[in-house]
Amino acid sequence: MEPTIKKIVILGSTGSVGTQTLEIVRAFPDRFEIVGLCNGYNTPLFKQQLDEFKPKYFNTLGEIESGYAGSKFAPAEEIASLPEVDLVVAATVGCAGMPPAIAALEAGKSLGLANKEVIVMAGEKMMEAARTSGSAILPIDSEPSALWQCLEGEVSDPARLIITASGGAFRDRTWDSLGDVTPEQALNHPTWTMGPKITVDAATLMNKAFEVIESRWLFDIPFDRIDVTIHRQSIVHSMVEFSDGTLKAQLGPTSMLQPIQHALFHPERQANNNLPKLNAVTMGSLTFEEMDQSLYPCFELALDYGKRGGTYPAALAGADEAAVQLFLTKKIKFTQIPDIVAKTLAAHESISKPSVADTIEAAQWATETTLARHNHSTILS
Ligand code: MG
Repeated sequence: MEPTIKKIVILGSTGSVGTQTLEIVRAFPDRFEIVGLCNGYNTPLFKQQLDEFKPKYFNTLGEIESGYAGSKFAPAEEIASLPEVDLVVAATVGCAGMPPAIAALEAGKSLGLANKEVIVMAGEKMMEAARTSGSAILPIDSEPSALWQCLEGEVSDPARLIITASGGAFRDRTWDSLGDVTPEQALNHPTWTMGPKITVDAATLMNKAFEVIESRWLFDIPFDRIDVTIHRQSIVHSMVEFSDGTLKAQLGPTSMLQPIQHALFHPERQANNNLPKLNAVTMGSLTFEEMDQSLYPCFELALDYGKRGGTYPAALAGADEAAVQLFLTKKIKFTQIPDIVAKTLAAHESISKPSVADTIEAAQWATETTLARHNHSTILS
């Protein structure tokens, strides 16, 4: 039987995960077809993508006329829920990715999830939407993808999930010594090459707290059975412990191409010469250390509010998005990020059992409140 062609929409096609998703699609023209592409402001690259992949529909925040390269402009939510679409890859950054991601799930599409903020904001609602429509959330983030791969085929509940963390750009410094670090330094990640928002989140370990919250929902496991360990080499992407003491780990190169391809082809494995490979003999030693929480004040703060539920996790995602933006535009210091996020969260009035709309509103409120407080500040650089 001829394999069927999977029809794909990418939200955030010009970002790091978006361009790498297109790399996989490009390598398998008889397996995938791009039906829709959505992006933000990188118009030159987006036009190249429209020229190359000729999707039926596009959405952009930039200025491109409808009909460009034969592609029609349409709202992202509409594109993500088109009848012919099989898989929507959510590769946007931050809270703005929510409306098309939830639209895809409600329309019964598989959702390849790289944009972890949306599941942090509304994990319960997203899982509920997937259950109701019979759709699946396929993790693309490397750690949840590793957990997913360790859990595949198992019939017993895991005892613990163990998420690995590289420790980020400042893993060998003390928190107190980070007052004067620049955005350029924070963006110099020791093992991964990623977009700027997630790289700063990796330096504060906010990203790791988001992955804990993401995994809590994806794998329906309580927070107290999820651990984080520092693993400097970023080769073991995560581990699962079972009740009989067996520990399963997923190893791979430090590349997003593997988890993207896994989600695209799931449940198949496919040879792809463009993927980097690991060599067990030359990979060197692998180390695992306990995380020193004093180095990462964002981690505890984020988990605390993540566990409270209501609209707190959404406000957390919104406040962090603003704080990272303020740091990257040199309006605040790196070490102010946790205090600024904490101040916004302390002022947040959480709603219990929020709708998706409530979570979007909470995230927007937190972003605006945080930005308004600091937009006029400047720091010496
Ligand atoms: Mg990750």
